[in-house]
Amino acid sequence: MTFDCLIIGGSVAGISCGLILGSAHKKPFMADKKIGIIAHQRASALQDALFNNAYGIPAGTLGKDILAYTTQQIKDVYPHIELIENQKITSINSMGAALFEVHSNNDTVYYAKNVVIAVGNTNLFHIEGLMHYVEPHQKSIASKNRIQLKNTDHLVAPGIYVAGTLAGHRSQLAIAAGSGAAVGTDLMVKFNDGNETQSHDSIKKV
Ligand SMILES: Cc1cc2nc3c(=O)[nH]c(=O)nc-3n(C[C@H](O)[C@H](O)[C@H](O)COP(=O)(O)OP(=O)(O)OC[C@H]3O[C@@H](n4cnc5c(N)ncnc54)[C@H](O)[C@@H]3O)c2cc1C
Repeated sequence: MTFDCLIIGGSVAGISCGLILGSAHKKPFMADKKIGIIAHQRASALQDALFNNAYGIPAGTLGKDILAYTTQQIKDVYPHIELIENQKITSINSMGAALFEVHSNNDTVYYAKNVVIAVGNTNLFHIEGLMHYVEPHQKSIASKNRIQLKNTDHLVAPGIYVAGTLAGHRSQLAIAAGSGAAVGTDLMVKFNDGNETQSHDSIKKV
């Protein structure tokens, strides 16, 4: 099976991207699109975080509770998205013709037409096939040695997108979520043959 989009990273940016793509499934151009999320969460910045300043999130919310809630939200509301938990991606190789071969640490191989890299900005980053895109993070304290992937408005190379802090954004939840959502909508436009689109629900349409 080939994913139209495989999102790598199951924290703020990755799940936010998945929520946008998942919500668009009633659009004709999304109906046949296969979306997956490699929902590894152990190394998420959310694990130790406490939120008093993130838009829409009640003050005092624990990051680890957000991780659990948003993963369950994908399962409950957008079950057509394939959630692949407890795996890390180790390499991404272009097969040409807009196809990527993606390897995980338990020797599973996935195929994807588009990949979204949302694995955070730590310098422990190591995904074979992407290392030549790594550069120092432009918006964090230099002594922390954070990294980002070279990109233009989240696009690293044809079919390769980056989201969240790894895209070069400052580390704030709302920014990471917005970055993932931006990539989700960019992919929707791509799937819609370049025509602008967005995904909204409304109480007036229910
Ligand atoms: C202690 C702490 C407190 C914070 N407090 C606040 C706050 O008060 N307000 C605020 O706005 N922000 C706060 N933040 C920042 C906020 O949590 C981050 O900006 C946000 O989590 C970044 O999201 P991200 O998706 O880019 O990266 P992350 O949340 O780091 O997620 C990256 C994900 O990728 C996964 N991953 C890593 N490698 C791989 C791989 N090879 N394959 C598959 N998956 C992989 C990880 O397990 C993780 O789930 C805080 C952060 C910390 C650490």
